[in-house]
Amino acid sequence: MSKVQLFIDGEWCDSLSGKTIPVVNPATEERIGEVAHAQREDLELAVNAAARGFKVWRKMSPLDRSGILRKAGDLLRQRVDPIAIMMTLEQGKPVAEAKIEIQGCADFLDWFAEEGRRTYGRMIPARGEGVYNLVIKEPVGPIAAFTPWNFPMSQAVRKLGAALSAGCSMVIKPPEETPSSPAELIRALADAGLPKGVVNLVYGVPSEISDYLISHPVIRKVSFTGSTPVGKQLASKAGAHMKRITMELGGHAPAIVFNDADVKFAATVLAGGKYRNAGQVCIAPTRFLIQDGVYDQFVDEFVAKAKALKMGNGLEEGVTIGPLANDRRQAAIGTLVDDALKNGARAMTGGKRSENKGYFFEPTVLADVPKTARAMNEEPFGPVALMSRFKDFDEVMTEANRLPYGLASYAYTRSVKTSTALAAGIESGMLSINHYGLALPELPFGGVKDSGYGSEGGLEAVEAYLATKFVSQGSPAS
Ligand code: NAD
Repeated sequence: MSKVQLFIDGEWCDSLSGKTIPVVNPATEERIGEVAHAQREDLELAVNAAARGFKVWRKMSPLDRSGILRKAGDLLRQRVDPIAIMMTLEQGKPVAEAKIEIQGCADFLDWFAEEGRRTYGRMIPARGEGVYNLVIKEPVGPIAAFTPWNFPMSQAVRKLGAALSAGCSMVIKPPEETPSSPAELIRALADAGLPKGVVNLVYGVPSEISDYLISHPVIRKVSFTGSTPVGKQLASKAGAHMKRITMELGGHAPAIVFNDADVKFAATVLAGGKYRNAGQVCIAPTRFLIQDGVYDQFVDEFVAKAKALKMGNGLEEGVTIGPLANDRRQAAIGTLVDDALKNGARAMTGGKRSENKGYFFEPTVLADVPKTARAMNEEPFGPVALMSRFKDFDEVMTEANRLPYGLASYAYTRSVKTSTALAAGIESGMLSINHYGLALPELPFGGVKDSGYGSEGGLEAVEAYLATKFVSQGSPAS
């Protein structure tokens, strides 16, 4: 049984009340540990620590801050094996995927470590002699961050790496369902020499913690990753308190395959993207829009890939798709699949939850899914690929842009003209053409429309934690 504690003002501690929340293995439904449950008194300690930590961290040179972030990245690389087991036990993904996530987090820390050294301001030529117009970039202040369970560590590192590199401190609430691996990220930062109070880790009831932190005067910015409905609630609370926000929310990515595409290649790459992490990925391809001439071939190739997956406990050798992370997802996917089938979709493979213990759902391909099916309108967030046909470019662009979501999109075509028209017309924050090239540290990562606001990668991610100060400095009269 594992026990994950809070980390407040540089110390690992239980909550003052001693309360805990159980942690369950989604592959077995067994209770495997517990996590400390913070309440108002713990949160107040965490916020005050973040206020003090901010004063220390903002004064440290970017070079010194960079050294600590890099060292934390090295520690993660050294610790990847035990942390991967913890992640799989709590989240369900195969160990090989957990290792890739943790190694990726180390890369994020390296990249932010360097980017934080380039938070340049600028000097604007003045109208008067002896006047210097200076634009200075300063850290925003203490941040409140909320991260979800699908990528327990990498959702946290996107916020932590960017905020810390900019000189901000943080109170972070990772998911209660998968608490161990984000706690190991904080441990790596602490072991690397992060001054006390700079990062404070809390768990508890999400709505209680966000209510408390967002309205707290010490907190200057709110960063959330999760569903669109919760993001809208938190954004409106942040607005009421005039706090800056970054919102990385849901998606419903179109994956468009044109007649002139390399169909086999498209099916291979898109099936990899679809079933990674059992489809619980905000940028996963979900609406497969396939042109008439290659529809049957694409569906056949894709179904073969889905059938080749080995579903099971992520700790077992050879397993390529684990359970869903919690019972809510299993129920939600079942409802969406049943509704699509009732509306005329055809199950080409999968379509059912597992009868055994664990929150498993078969890798599923549904063909000829009508636009009226709920799954074509609500984010599926699971191992379900929805296939439908289109005739021409205008029709597919209308469908691709039909939903309020606008996070990721994918397209396969050999035509430069089509690629250029897609890039100009698609309403999404990210578009990947003829490959699967999203989510690296140096690349902007974020959505438009209901998928959110702001970027969690690239230099834009650091900019999001900086405030602009303008100083106009003249010479004394004499
Ligand atoms: P949910 O909407 O209840 O929660 C989503 C996340 O937000 C969780 O991590 C949760 O702890 C957190 N959360 C919920 N209410 C909160 C509040 N008031 N204050 C602060 N944090 C809060 O749904 P869920 O069942 O956990 O997840 C299902 C849906 O969430 C999916 O359908 C998907 O749309 C979305 N999701 C998106 C991402 C992403 O990467 N963008 C990740 C995980 C989940």
